[in-house]
Amino acid sequence: MNIVLASAEVFPFAKAGGLADVSGYLPKEWEALGHRSLIVMPKYGDIDVEKFKLKPMNLTIAVPMGSWTEFAQIWSATLPDSTVPVYFIESADYFDRQGIYGNPDGFADNNRRFVFLSRAVFELAAALNFKPDVILANDYHTAFTMPFLKIHYRDHHLFRDTVGVQSIHNMAFHGVFEPQETLYLAQIGMDQFYSMSWFEFHGALNTLKAGIMFADKITTVSPTYALEIRYSDQGHGLQNVLLERAGDLIGILNGVDYKVWDPETDDSIYVNYTTDTVEKKWENKYEFLRRSNVHESEIYADMPLIGMVSRLTDQKGFDVVRDAIEYLLHIYPIRFTLLGSGGREYENYFRDLNLRMHPRTLIRIGYDEQLSHRIEAAADIFLMPSRFEPCGLNQMYSLKYGAIPIVRRTGGLADTVFEFNAESGTGNGFLFDDLNVQSLVDVIGRALNVYYNKAAWKKAMRNAMTADNSARKSARAYLEVFEWARRGR
Ligand code: ADP
Repeated sequence: MNIVLASAEVFPFAKAGGLADVSGYLPKEWEALGHRSLIVMPKYGDIDVEKFKLKPMNLTIAVPMGSWTEFAQIWSATLPDSTVPVYFIESADYFDRQGIYGNPDGFADNNRRFVFLSRAVFELAAALNFKPDVILANDYHTAFTMPFLKIHYRDHHLFRDTVGVQSIHNMAFHGVFEPQETLYLAQIGMDQFYSMSWFEFHGALNTLKAGIMFADKITTVSPTYALEIRYSDQGHGLQNVLLERAGDLIGILNGVDYKVWDPETDDSIYVNYTTDTVEKKWENKYEFLRRSNVHESEIYADMPLIGMVSRLTDQKGFDVVRDAIEYLLHIYPIRFTLLGSGGREYENYFRDLNLRMHPRTLIRIGYDEQLSHRIEAAADIFLMPSRFEPCGLNQMYSLKYGAIPIVRRTGGLADTVFEFNAESGTGNGFLFDDLNVQSLVDVIGRALNVYYNKAAWKKAMRNAMTADNSARKSARAYLEVFEWARRGR
């Protein structure tokens, strides 16, 4: 198949979150499976042109906007570890600045920026004479490709047979704009904007809604999230829109790039290990504790290490962790390690906790890729009490590293972690439902009971480490959706 992937973020060029990872590994996996794809993204001012070897092409495309035409020079690079071409749309007006979205409030011209990007996707493919079987739009930023495909390009010889798939990575962002200007720029008449139309939501233009309605198929990043966004407030108001398209919506779990996250080959960790040599995990824990200034005599105490690596936000349940942690340390013989950054108040609280409770708490405030690998390798238990979690990556890394996950039953956490049962020897972690202190007390107590039964714990680790959450599997599932969309034409 020929695939165009349009995204505002692609790892390693520009990243704000999981969207970048997925946009980066899918085309790589599709290539390995024999498919041809290209990536279209903006050339942001802070992309490291030298490091990523971006080259200006001898190609300028004309992009229709409103009643005029704008021009964009195209730069290109290759996706690392592949031959997948990445095309960067250059625009002094829209992208040559710091940042991707202009968070927290968003750039005032995000409507123009993303209409332009979405339109450029077609003009670029046409300039390259690339005939896509599928265009995959990601989140609201490139959602305008879906109506463009059906309105402006449906008779174009390159796009006549192209299907559109809209992927939702986080339902919280809709791209809500003022309709008049935005539709004018998109060359779509205001006669398309009326109450309950595909563009309208509560009187405003809703870009994600348009993407959902015009797409042939819709994906989101886990099967449970696909239900939650239809049947709970996690749909952020678009539940009924998604219900209307429910027959075309499917959840596909994100995957892990096991070339980066595998304790057998990971060169960030102290000692490599596999399911057959899990005792070497202990050496990682030993080294981690020693370097965290835990006294030699205390390292040998059989105290499980509970780890977290996360943005410090309410989404990740840190309000409850903050309320519970001192009590948990009081009643259970556990050690707690946290690597995180984010909310100032949380950062201060955990810094202070570390001063008071070290060496029972080993806390690092900041962002540290290498340390995140070392924590996965050292931790016995990994905690993710997320309020909501479209997919979540860390629980999947934890499984691979035999750090048994304790998670709240939501989104992708519920799809990847299964309650361990010591009698049947099934399951790979522990789950809880209510996000409060008592639930954490209960679930950690349950995990500790198993922890001290060494044979059972080893079984849980084996189950965890052999779970397949690979990027390859995820990429195959997208291909199936593309075929499904093509059959439905
Ligand atoms: P989200 O995208 O909602 O933040 P995910 O679990 O899907 O949550 O992905 C988070 C990614 O960011 C993971 O790869 C995680 O290891 C990484 N990460 C988060 N905080 C840190 C940090 N402080 N240092 C290193 N890596 C981090």
